[in-house]
Amino acid sequence: MAKKVVIVGSGPAGLTAAIYTARADLQPLVIEGFTKGGQAGGQLMTTTEVENFPGFPEGIDGPELIMNMKKQAERFGAEFIMEDIDKVDFSSKPYTLSNSNRTITAHSVIISTGASARILDLPSVKKFWGKGVSACATCDGALPMFRNQVIAVIGGGDSAIEEASFLTRFASKVLLIHRRQEFRASKAMQKRAFDNPKIELVLDSVLDEVYGSQFMEGIKVKNVKTDEISDYACKGLFMAIGHVPNTDFIKDAIDLNEKGYIKVKHPSTATNIEGVFGCGDVIDPHYRQAITAAGTGCAAALDAERWLQANDLG
Ligand code: NAP
Repeated sequence: MAKKVVIVGSGPAGLTAAIYTARADLQPLVIEGFTKGGQAGGQLMTTTEVENFPGFPEGIDGPELIMNMKKQAERFGAEFIMEDIDKVDFSSKPYTLSNSNRTITAHSVIISTGASARILDLPSVKKFWGKGVSACATCDGALPMFRNQVIAVIGGGDSAIEEASFLTRFASKVLLIHRRQEFRASKAMQKRAFDNPKIELVLDSVLDEVYGSQFMEGIKVKNVKTDEISDYACKGLFMAIGHVPNTDFIKDAIDLNEKGYIKVKHPSTATNIEGVFGCGDVIDPHYRQAITAAGTGCAAALDAERWLQANDLG
C-alpha cells in the first residue's frame, strides 16, 4: 500500500517534517540516507557545539540535537529506514522511490537530502584522501596522526573557521588558507579565529598540490596575486570550501536550478511535481542554517498535509 508521506533525508529539515507529519497522523516513513552525500542525520552529525539553535542557552552537540529530533518524531509514530534512495519515478501516481533492496510507493514525497562538502578537484587531493586529506575535522581531527602536528584548513566561511578552531585542540598549529583577504564567515567566528594564537592566516592563496609518500607530508600553495608558490610542511589538510546539493538521484525527475538545488515555489515548498515538496539545504543555497532547515521542514510537512487533504489522500 502506498505511504501517505515519504521523507527522504534526516537532517533538521527531514526530522522536523517527520515530527509534523507524524503528529498529523500521516505515519511518515523517513529514508534516513546512509552513504551518499554524507550520512544519516546530515551535517549536524559532524558538528561539535551548536550555539545558535534557539532553546539551548548553553549550546548543544550537533549529534545530540539530531538524536533528540529523531526521538521526538518516533514518539509520534514516524518510521525510519537507514538506506539511500537511488531512483525515483514521479511520472505516474502513486510515486515510486527505489534502491536495490526495495521499492516504496508514496502519495506525497518530501525531499530533504541536504548538501555535501565540496572537494577540490586535484589529483593530489584524491591521492592523499584519507591519508591526511579530509573534509571533516569533527570526524577525523582527533586522529593520532594529527596530534601535535601542523594542519591546514582551506576556506573562508564559518565552516573553515569552525574547523580551524576545533583543530587547534589537537594540532601544534593550524594554517587557515583562504583565496582572498576578506572572510565570508560571521564576525563572531572571525574574531574567534583571529584571537587564537595557534591559527596562522595564509591569505590570497590557493592549494596547488599535496605531496608526501604513504601519507601526506606537506602542501604547495600559490599566492593568487604574485603567483609565488610556498611550501608548508603539514600532516593534515581539511577542506571547508562549501557544499553541493544532494540531488543526483532526482536530477532527471524534478526541476533543479543551475547549481543543482531543487526549485520550489516560494513561499511554499512545492516543486514542479504536485505532491512533491523540498526543504532544508537541498532548496537553500543562501541561509543554510539548522534552524532555517527546520523551518522549511515544518513548511513542507504542512504543505504535504494540505495537499493530501485536498486530494482526499490524507
Ligand atoms: P560557505 O559560506 O559557502 O564558504 C565557503 C568558503 O570556501 C568561502 O570562503 C569560499 O571562498 C571558499 N571556497 C569555495 N570554493 C573554493 C575553491 N574552489 N577554492 C578555494 N576556496 C573556495 O560555506 P561554509 O563555510 O560551509 O558555510 C555554509 C553555511 O553554513 C553558511 O551559511 C554558514 O553560515 C553556515 N555555517 C554556520 C556555522 C555556525 O554558525 N556555527 C558553522 C558552519 C557553517 P570565497 O569567500 O572567496 O567565495
